[in-house]
Parts: sequence; C-alpha cells; structure tokens
Amino acid sequence: MTIITDLLDLLLPRTCCGCNTVLTTNEEYLCTKCMINLPRTRYHKDPDNPTAQTFWGRTNIQNATSFLHFNKKGTVQHIMHQIKYKDNLELAIFMGTHAGHELKCTPFEEVDVIIPVPLHKSRLSKRGYNQSERIAMGISEILNIPIDNKSIIRAKSSESQVTKKRYQRWENVEGIFEVVQPQQIINKHILLVDDILTTGATIEACAQEILKVEGTKISIFTLAKAKQ
Ligand SMILES: [Zn+2]
Repeated sequence: MTIITDLLDLLLPRTCCGCNTVLTTNEEYLCTKCMINLPRTRYHKDPDNPTAQTFWGRTNIQNATSFLHFNKKGTVQHIMHQIKYKDNLELAIFMGTHAGHELKCTPFEEVDVIIPVPLHKSRLSKRGYNQSERIAMGISEILNIPIDNKSIIRAKSSESQVTKKRYQRWENVEGIFEVVQPQQIINKHILLVDDILTTGATIEACAQEILKVEGTKISIFTLAKAKQ
C-alpha cells in the first residue's frame, strides 16, 4: 500500500460493511473476520440444494445456487442493505467476484451468458442502478462470461411485495417480464442473477419468459438466500 492510501485511511477511516469496524489498509469492504465468517452456503457443490429445490416442480432449471445465507441483523443483512439502499456498487461487484471464484470449475461456468434480473425503468431511474447487474459484473469478470442486460426487460413495475402471501405474489409477478430481443438468446444457456432469493416468484417469472425462446436453458445464482 502506498503512503497516500495509509494517510487517507488515517484521515478518512474506511469501515467494514459487515460490522463497521475500521478497516486496515489491506482490507477492502469487509474486515478479515467478517470475510472468514461469511455464512457461505456451498450450495454450488450440491445439485439438490435448497435454492434448487425452491424451483422444483415450478420451472425447469439446470443448476441453481445462492452464495450466502441471509442472516437477519448479521453481516449479510448489512451487506444487502449497503448494496440495495446505500448505493454501495463496489461492494456488489466485490461480492460478485468472490462468488465468481467459487463458481469456477463448476457447471455454472458452462453458461453462455449472464442476465441480471432486470428492474423496471421507473425503479431504475429512481435508484440509478440495478444491484443485480453489479453482482453479475463481478461474476462476469471472474468467469469471463458476457452480460446481456438488453434482451429482457421488466415491462411492468410491481408494487411492494413485502406484505403479500406467496400465492398473491405469484399473481403479482406474472407477465411482468418481456423478452425484447429473442434472437440474442436463442439456444443459449443463461445464468439468471438476482440479489436475494425469497419465494423465487420473481426469478421464476423471469425464467419462464426466457424459456419461451427456442433452445434456451436457465441456471440461477442469487447472492443470498432468505430463510423460508
Ligand atoms: Zn467486519
């Protein structure tokens, strides 16, 4: 590290996105303790993992995994909050690269293209970025697989789903995605990337729209998986 970085750290201490302690010059975004203690699921090693099971009997998925267990009031909640509401785009990319390293030499590396679950344009302009796209950028960088953020769009914005029950959520997401450039994804195996898996209804709706295009296959990655 340079003297300037040391000096900057002294004047404007960077803090850990997981636990708020001051980072050392060699640490980035997360302190060593939070990094070591990240609740990794290791689901990528088990084809029948709970994330994959979420889609059983619903959508034909090749492989599915989540990188982290969502722990309420813990590191992962802090990370997700930073990514979703605090514009911490670098943290999203950083987490994506760590996930990408895990996906190396697994079936996830065999996909043709990465598609982040799109946001509706009104949400996008309000937030300024799609957090799932940033996560996807990190994965893309490590696996060297291109991102396609144009072929599918979110045509309808859905109202807040927080208070709705599973059945109602499903009703709510049906038909909200639209493939606008089907020729771009014909015969492709796509890795759909989202930030967090809860009921899976949104991802399922997105996957089903894509699967209407000839020869497409879907795998799924989410940064975290909520407890059901
Ligand atoms: Zn920490």
